[in-house]
Amino acid sequence: MDEPGRTLKEGAMSRPDSTLFPTGGTRYSDYLARSTLRSWVGMSFLSATLIVILGLLVSWSVTYLAGGADNLVPHLYYVPILIAAARFGPGAALIVALTAGILAGPLTYVDVAAGTAQETERWLTRTAFFVGIGQLMAWLVIPALTPVTEELRRMRQEFDIRRGLRHNEFFLRYQPIYSSRQRRFVGVEALIRWQHPVHGELTPVDFLDVAEGSSLIHDIGKLVIAEACRQTEDWKTLAEAQGQEPWYTAINLSARDLIRPELAYDVASALKRHHLPPELLTIELTETVLALEDAEPALEALNHLGVQLAIDDFGTGYSSLAYLNRFPIDTLKLDRQLVSRLDHDPSAEDLARGIVLLASSLGLKMVAEGVETQKQVELGHDLDFDLMQGFYFARPLRSDEVPALLLASTADQDLRPPASFRPNGKTPPTE
Ligand code: C2E
Ligand code: MG
Ligand code: MG
Repeated sequence: MDEPGRTLKEGAMSRPDSTLFPTGGTRYSDYLARSTLRSWVGMSFLSATLIVILGLLVSWSVTYLAGGADNLVPHLYYVPILIAAARFGPGAALIVALTAGILAGPLTYVDVAAGTAQETERWLTRTAFFVGIGQLMAWLVIPALTPVTEELRRMRQEFDIRRGLRHNEFFLRYQPIYSSRQRRFVGVEALIRWQHPVHGELTPVDFLDVAEGSSLIHDIGKLVIAEACRQTEDWKTLAEAQGQEPWYTAINLSARDLIRPELAYDVASALKRHHLPPELLTIELTETVLALEDAEPALEALNHLGVQLAIDDFGTGYSSLAYLNRFPIDTLKLDRQLVSRLDHDPSAEDLARGIVLLASSLGLKMVAEGVETQKQVELGHDLDFDLMQGFYFARPLRSDEVPALLLASTADQDLRPPASFRPNGKTPPTE
């Protein structure tokens, strides 16, 4: 488990384009047309080019053997033209149609040798038909190409994620969370990363959307639960050996994780395996999860286990206050966008103040995330946020960078962690 990152959020819930295979009442002919289209589009550039060339050669040979171009056989040329149109679009269709026109016309060896070469008009008419049909096909196929290409991109990415999971390329980074009252770090948020063999370290924005469109998000969820608990136990042992309070770990789960029936069981068995008290684990969920009808039993089960539940990115989207009472929530995380407006937009400050009041009257903890500047930290203290998290304090760290911070974090320490705890030792902005 190791390394740094960027950001994601919106779109994490979006589903893949399913227009290709509508669920209800799809006719077999539609299915056949679409799957044929999909195999053409999915074919590699080289294979498709070779098939087109082969199609032209076969058409020419059959025409030759059939005695020349002046019969029905030249219709075979439509096959490579249509393939080129479907795979490469109108430009390629035009080239292949013109080539077919030349091959099928007066240049056909048999016609010339037999003295039956077609007249120029017939040759031109045939070529015009080839071009026309090729362009019509390209025009018909192009609107369907985008979803097909998008679906194939997703399929390839799913395959790659599956391979990455098999090769243990996914790992967690941990971003420390600072307690305003205790003036020390009290927890971490685990953030998934993918050490891709070709593209380097990827952040959730690069793969979570695709994973959430398939069952892969369950594998990622299981991995995160197991690895975060394993790591939390290590740090708990370390903290206890130093006579310090253990840190809690917050993990992110997606909506699809929440409706997985074994979720509570997985969490319970990971806590048990690592001898962790449940309050050392916080599960962060976005507001959209709470709008799901099936969410309530899962949330109740998690609450029953004793783990903490947090609403991530609160204060944007469609923050509905109704669910704050309905669901067993412990923490609100103020959205990064709102926090970033705090130091220059009075209305953002008013809104944040209102949310803090609301949280305190409901007995909820408040976390400000995405804190980047000294001014935001001061406002955070002023607004009485319980916890703060952001690049001002530390970026998401590799697991091996965390113990130094854990051991250095004593009560009343300086607000800023030593520079070495920030990536590249950079000093964070002060304004
Ligand atoms: P989030 O849970 O709201 O996590 C905070 C994101 O903001 C993280 O991006 C973090 O690197 C970034 N961040 C933290 N402090 C600052 C700051 O001061 N300034 C700026 N500009 N950004 C900051 P990351 O790691 O790319 O994660 C993005 C989102 O992906 C997370 O948003 C979370 O919703 C999702 N995610 C991350 N890990 C997991 C996971 O293991 N499972 C699931 N289902 N979702 C995850
Ligand atoms: Mg989060
Ligand atoms: Mg967030």
